[in-house]
Amino acid sequence: MARTVLVTGGNRGIGLAIAQAFAKQGDRVAVTHRGSGAPADLFGVQCDITDSAAVDAAFTAVEAELGPVEVLVANAGITDDTLLMRMSEEQFTRVLDTNLTGAFRVAKRATAKMLRARWGRMIFISSVVGLYGGPGQINYAASKAGLVGVARSITRELGSRNITANVVAPGFVETDMTAVLPDDKKTEYLKAIPAGRFATADEVAGVVTWLAGDSAGYVSGAVIPVDGGLGMGH
Ligand code: NDP
Repeated sequence: MARTVLVTGGNRGIGLAIAQAFAKQGDRVAVTHRGSGAPADLFGVQCDITDSAAVDAAFTAVEAELGPVEVLVANAGITDDTLLMRMSEEQFTRVLDTNLTGAFRVAKRATAKMLRARWGRMIFISSVVGLYGGPGQINYAASKAGLVGVARSITRELGSRNITANVVAPGFVETDMTAVLPDDKKTEYLKAIPAGRFATADEVAGVVTWLAGDSAGYVSGAVIPVDGGLGMGH
């Protein structure tokens, strides 16, 4: 059954791979972007997830074009790495405001329509770093760990209404976000990953589409690693 799907930050990187995977299986797919536009086969809405009014307007536009959002993928995120002693409060709160509060904003806006439909899927893109930790990533790790609390609390609040909320925790995926990392850091990561390689964005997308499908209807409040074994036990 075709669903209406909204992927935040679905204009590039992992979000784009997720959006394209849904489109490929015949779903109606909308993506947010912050001015770059969206690929032609996807419905693009301009939205900065740090702005509640923009989130509301984006959902309204998607509802008008494709119908109520049935599958929400909260994927948009940023890093702003630096060691704790050097991290400004602004650097901390900006990352939290995007990665964690941004996810809260979209989840809240999606809820009424999912409740009415008595069906919904929320998928939060976290990171292995959320539970594993990462030097220089206090802000990022806190925001990504926070998504676990969000998904599990949504599961307890809305689980009886056929709404699931899950977390996908990717390891290292080659995108613009990781392109900025120095080579020695990449080599260091590679040594620690049992799979011996980085993930493709499609490997994350496959888990997200599975979570949104009917066969995953009894999976909720889960944290699903897609990290080649990097975070095992965390
Ligand atoms: P990219 O840097 O390639 O893309 C980030 C996306 O988030 C862009 O679409 C960007 O939009 C959007 N975005 C950022 N800030 C905002 C905002 N305030 N409002 C709306 N959209 C925003 O990242 P990735 O594709 O690598 O990462 C996607 C998600 O996966 C992130 O949550 C990231 O933390 C997570 N992740 C990534 C990993 C990796 O190795 N790459 C590993 C684990 C998790 P715009 O184009 O307008 O800037």
